[in-house]
Amino acid sequence: MTIEKMKNYINGEWVDSKSKTIGDVWCPASGEKIAEVAYGTKEDVDLAVKAAREAFPEWRETPPLSRARYLFRLKDAFEENFEDIARTLTREQGKAIDESRGEVRRMIENVEHATGVTTLMTGYTLEDIATGIDCYGHRQPMGVFAAIVPYNFPAMVAWWFLPYAIVAGNTYIVKPSEQVPMTQTKIFEILDEIGLPEGVVNMVHGSRDVVNGLLDHPDIEGISFVGSTPTARYIYQRCGETGKRVQSLGGAKNIVAVTPDADLDAAMPSLITSFFGCSGQRCLSGSVLVPVGDVADTLLEKFIVAAKAMKVGDGLDEQTAMGPVISAAHRERVLGYIEKGIAEGAELVLDGRNYTVSECPNGFFVGPTIFDKVTSDMIIAREEIFGPVVSMVRTRNLDEVIDLINTRDYANAACIYSQSGAMVREFKYRVKPSMIGVNIGIAAPMSFFPFGGAGNSMFGDVKGHGQEIFQFFTDTKVVIERWF
Ligand code: NAD
Repeated sequence: MTIEKMKNYINGEWVDSKSKTIGDVWCPASGEKIAEVAYGTKEDVDLAVKAAREAFPEWRETPPLSRARYLFRLKDAFEENFEDIARTLTREQGKAIDESRGEVRRMIENVEHATGVTTLMTGYTLEDIATGIDCYGHRQPMGVFAAIVPYNFPAMVAWWFLPYAIVAGNTYIVKPSEQVPMTQTKIFEILDEIGLPEGVVNMVHGSRDVVNGLLDHPDIEGISFVGSTPTARYIYQRCGETGKRVQSLGGAKNIVAVTPDADLDAAMPSLITSFFGCSGQRCLSGSVLVPVGDVADTLLEKFIVAAKAMKVGDGLDEQTAMGPVISAAHRERVLGYIEKGIAEGAELVLDGRNYTVSECPNGFFVGPTIFDKVTSDMIIAREEIFGPVVSMVRTRNLDEVIDLINTRDYANAACIYSQSGAMVREFKYRVKPSMIGVNIGIAAPMSFFPFGGAGNSMFGDVKGHGQEIFQFFTDTKVVIERWF
């Protein structure tokens, strides 16, 4: 098998990194090495920023609709290569092929939404703010922005930001996760074909040195970060020190409540996807299952049956419902949490340790795992596991559920399965997380609504995509005008 070698994309050219440090990329299903990626340096970042900076003056003067036309072309090119992107994604990330298709679809939706720039980026005007004096605010692009993104959505996450940034007239740099550099490389190969002016969009592969190079660079106006909470906090602090705009999205510990009147049979497929989709490696994954009152035993029984029925295996197999986790190291981390749950006294009712998939003997698999009798103070009810491990906390009433949710450090998403409008209203009104699912297990806003949480799940003010994103990527210049 040929080992692919990743290159940076700078100023419209594929270039080798200046770095001598090379990282390996693994196929999580086969456990084989499939690519190499250089961990870029500050010099690589400097080259990308220089290209983006030089492209900015002409790009900002390009009319918004002309900028949007590149996105229309890009959308078509992505559609033509849809399956190729999805298969590359599954190969390096491991998720089931249909989940990859869903991710690529969400990526394209951001391109589609950003083409609405001519209405989304407009300013506002008020005549006679004093007699004979008019005032208007218009949005101007600012310069170079960058995205630093995680491994679990190798295609989509950078595109929560990139299309909006460039259609608003900025230029851009993406740093993919070093664990999954191939998908974004494929995407940039497609982007290379649509004729964007050189330097408008760039990509630098790597790890901490690239991140720090971006954070320190005086010619970068703002950073969009998505990843774990410790890194998100670090990025937020560093951007504060260097005076950059920042939106920094972190980890999660999402609670899914089920009330006694919920329709369990209708709910089960989406409950299973919520907890086990992407092998639990999703910032919107259900992590803590919280039955209210006497629904607990029936819920648990049905949930175990449905979890056992899932086909776990190679994501490229169309029948697979759940793939492996990203790496051998991450599998050890997830298994470590299962040991912690046992040590804390939770009852392991479905054990995903020592899980084998016969056609993928060397893959990084953890089987679906369920704990019952978890209490709210246990580590497995508080920390982000990021694997297919469910902690069930039994509660007596809705107040206990809401208290459980609002005492977690994270506040990304929360879901409720219920037929009771009054309970759902109470839930929506009082819980802290910002993305709420009602009879939906993954509360994922589409591109025209904002994406992001509260608490330790997000630092900064403006969330990903939605309409507000144009505020992040522009400065509102206010003109107060009088004519004699
Ligand atoms: P991560 O924080 O390890 O890495 C994210 C990015 O930061 C990568 O590009 C990585 O190279 C870089 N990075 C990592 N450590 C760094 C450091 N010390 N200094 C500078 N840069 C560093 O996250 P991950 O493991 O790739 O992704 C999983 C995490 O992302 C989970 O916590 C998940 O909840 C979170 N996530 C959140 C959202 C959201 O919308 N809130 C979406 C997807 C993923």
